[in-house]
Amino acid sequence: NVITRFAPSPTGMLHIGGARTALFNYLFAKRHNGKFLLRIEDTDRARSTDEATAAILEGMDWLGLTPDEAPVMQFSQAARHTEVANEMIARGTAFRCYATPEELQARRDLGEEKRQAAKAEGISEAEKTALLAEANELLAPYRSPWRDGAPSPSADAPFTVRLRAPDGGDRILEDGVQGRVTIQASELDDMILLRADGTPTYMLAVVVDDHDMGVTHVIRGDDHLRNAFRQIPIYEAMGWDVPTFAHVSLIHGPDGAKLSKRHGALSTLAYREMGYLPEAMKAYLLRLGWSHGDQEIFTEAEAISLFDVEGINKAPARLDLEKLGQINSHFMRLADDDRLFELLKPLLEAEAPLSEAEAGRVRTALPHMKDRGTTLPELAAAFAFLRDIRPIEMNKKARKALSEEGLDRLAGLRDELQQLRQWTAETISLVISSYCADRDLSMGQVGQPLRAALTGGLPAPDIAPVLEWLGQDEALGRIEDQTA
Ligand code: GLU
Repeated sequence: NVITRFAPSPTGMLHIGGARTALFNYLFAKRHNGKFLLRIEDTDRARSTDEATAAILEGMDWLGLTPDEAPVMQFSQAARHTEVANEMIARGTAFRCYATPEELQARRDLGEEKRQAAKAEGISEAEKTALLAEANELLAPYRSPWRDGAPSPSADAPFTVRLRAPDGGDRILEDGVQGRVTIQASELDDMILLRADGTPTYMLAVVVDDHDMGVTHVIRGDDHLRNAFRQIPIYEAMGWDVPTFAHVSLIHGPDGAKLSKRHGALSTLAYREMGYLPEAMKAYLLRLGWSHGDQEIFTEAEAISLFDVEGINKAPARLDLEKLGQINSHFMRLADDDRLFELLKPLLEAEAPLSEAEAGRVRTALPHMKDRGTTLPELAAAFAFLRDIRPIEMNKKARKALSEEGLDRLAGLRDELQQLRQWTAETISLVISSYCADRDLSMGQVGQPLRAALTGGLPAPDIAPVLEWLGQDEALGRIEDQTA
């Protein structure tokens, strides 16, 4: 049974790269009727904060990436991590290492010294080769002299617990995204599992937690690819099943450089503030690094039925805010009217609360206005002409349309509109066209002053629906304001 997890470190906001990782894990689990879990990796006590944990949870909640179980807090598992390290000692796959930090530093310093010495002028090729060999040995990944069980130097000597790194040969990882990746075992050191103060290291904690949580598939950023080579030997040392790994390339900016603030917001919740819908953000993040033929937009149900690791692109994806805007307008058009109204309301009320009449007009117009923006604030701005704006401030173009001639035509039209019993876009439209026909006027000759009087030049859709949404009293009132 498939179990995936998202394992953020609570040191800041939910990064959009992290949100994408969470989404991929979520979709993969759902696709296979498995479970999606969350682990908060809070072992870095100095940098982890409750606020960051809350922000991550809020971001995931916004995107609807709900974990199937309560989050695991990594630090709370420390005793279990220690227990596993001790079990590895018992198995002979880990050992106590008595090298002190000073000794290790001295070793590195000596290596550095020899490397420098090899560069000196006037030494022979043979001396140089010998010095470099010694330097490389000293600077190579550390293999402890205690790895084969040499006794402790004294009864109370402090120690770290280290993993006995795999000896010799190639280490091969069949990665779901990166393909086959190979390194030399000699690139791995006898890494520390328990520090001298007894605290477990991050590398140990991740493996123990993933094992204990039953994680079968690890999908994460490719900045962790090298870690996989350090983590797999821990599974092997415990005789545990190694999960399947898929390391996803990081998101880049439109210019191909590593994503940074100058490319756009990095925090997932910032996109909520900018007025993107969560389903749009999700659909966008899905396409950012994953594809299925040419299809651009996926509903959640489609994504769940189609998501696969094979579709994850190996090359880094580039952030494309224009595409996000397109996807967002797509989902705004699909959004339920009541929900969209609730989302727009705080934006509409930023400066003044909606009067009952205004709310009524906005609510009536909403189903026909959904395509008038790419973000919620843009859409909200499109409703300005429906607010209580009398006396209407005229922009230059509107003022020009309200010439003496224009006003004459408007006055005549007003009289006819006043007679109208059934106030619908259709009946209004008929009145306007017959009025034009009777007087041999073009639609523009009437429409322009009419639009000016009703909106003052604010952007608005077709004029007949505008009249309908304003309602007979308000529409005629706005015309009278100009013609009286
Ligand atoms: N905590 C790590 C991070 O935030 C993720 C570790 C993992 O996924 O294995 O980058």
